[in-house]
Amino acid sequence: MKQHYDIVIAGGGMIGTSAALALAPLGLSVCVVEAVARKAGQQPSFDDRSTALSRSSQRMFEAMQLWDDIVAAATPIRSVHVSDKGRFGFSHIDAEEQGVEALGYVVINRVLGEVLQSELEAADGVDVLCPASIEGVELGPDRASVTIRSAEAQETLNCKLLVAADGANSSVREMLGISAQKRAYGQRAMIGNLQSEMSLQQRAFERFTSQGPLAILPIADDRAGFVWTVSEQDAERVLGLSDDDFLAEIQEQFGFRLGRFSRVGTRAAYPLTLSKAVRLTATRSVLIGNSAHGLHPVAAQGFNLGLRDVAALCDCIADEARTGLDAGSVQLLDRYADWRRSDQKKLVYFTDNLVQLFASSRPHIRTLRNIGMIGFDLIPGVRSLFAKHTMGLAGELPRLSRGLPVR
Ligand SMILES: Cc1cc2nc3c(=O)[nH]c(=O)nc-3n(C[C@H](O)[C@H](O)[C@H](O)COP(=O)(O)OP(=O)(O)OC[C@H]3O[C@@H](n4cnc5c(N)ncnc54)[C@H](O)[C@@H]3O)c2cc1C
Repeated sequence: MKQHYDIVIAGGGMIGTSAALALAPLGLSVCVVEAVARKAGQQPSFDDRSTALSRSSQRMFEAMQLWDDIVAAATPIRSVHVSDKGRFGFSHIDAEEQGVEALGYVVINRVLGEVLQSELEAADGVDVLCPASIEGVELGPDRASVTIRSAEAQETLNCKLLVAADGANSSVREMLGISAQKRAYGQRAMIGNLQSEMSLQQRAFERFTSQGPLAILPIADDRAGFVWTVSEQDAERVLGLSDDDFLAEIQEQFGFRLGRFSRVGTRAAYPLTLSKAVRLTATRSVLIGNSAHGLHPVAAQGFNLGLRDVAALCDCIADEARTGLDAGSVQLLDRYADWRRSDQKKLVYFTDNLVQLFASSRPHIRTLRNIGMIGFDLIPGVRSLFAKHTMGLAGELPRLSRGLPVR
């Protein structure tokens, strides 16, 4: 292993791995430090969740020449159907109406991990230290020094830029002295997959229930992935239900729009917290992905937003290299922070408000909600604007998010 790198990335999960692959063509020396071994079966990022990839994420993976491998294992979403349990109104967004082939693609994190991690092993200029964790950071004007512990040894790496991609409970963020505002939702997201009597036919469903949102997503083998938000108090009970009892409860929440549910797979639950780092940079260091922002999964945006962080960082680094500045310069960090602040703020606000709006049982809010959904459905311009945002196509997009090579 080398002792000096241009960039050290803390965390080789969904975002850290994507960042290393996106940076590779820039010809910099990069080291990814990841705490959990790839084959451990317990990799916390590449697990059994299904992730809906937005259009901007698709474009980014196309530009990185990874899309063919990803799409081979992904299922397109041709339409999204949104409903409110106990009310008649519903809304929908359709790919054809938006002039796109698909609104997004669903891929299982573990499968995406196989593609990204295999590519990383073959990438030029990128070293991976795994399993190893970052235990200390020292920041100086010319370099960041990172203390790393693995089973064999403790060592120090120096770099021009330290990228924190170690997730929502980022210890590197704390080591950098950056605090995060956090608010627990008092909910857990229950995930798994099941068989529906009728085929989903590449349709995704979002149903708002009194407990929280329930998303049903089309996945491989004509099965349905679900993300069901339940209250913290009820989570253990729901996790402990027999398969038949679980199916009966989720069916009662969703209804029979897809016929009868059967054959539920293994279930897991994730506590949900909104988190927002108060700053995105410190001396020679930067936050990306969940270390910068942890969102409620209601609108399937967290990873997509994190990929736009990666794309913006790549633009900043590529442009600075042209002017002869190094990867951790103050100018670069300021540009990155200014660029990303508004997109992150909008998504935090949007997802949080969606959760609060649909959680309310007050009659006038419920009526407003229904009027909103009808208006949303009748006015195509509103739908297009909403679709543009959820497809990740709004605002000033970095090169990779537009499907262009980083240089
Ligand atoms: C139920 C659920 C459904 C979701 N669905 C979607 C969706 O459909 N679409 C979407 O866009 N997003 C979705 N998300 C959000 C998405 O999963 C996250 O935004 C994404 O996983 C964040 O990736 P990350 O790499 O930033 O963090 P993480 O996935 O948390 O990865 C962090 C990595 O850092 C490593 N690490 C931690 N500490 C250290 C250390 N000190 N040293 C070295 N390594 C360390 C960890 O082992 C891990 O591999 C969903 C989230 C949930 C909970």
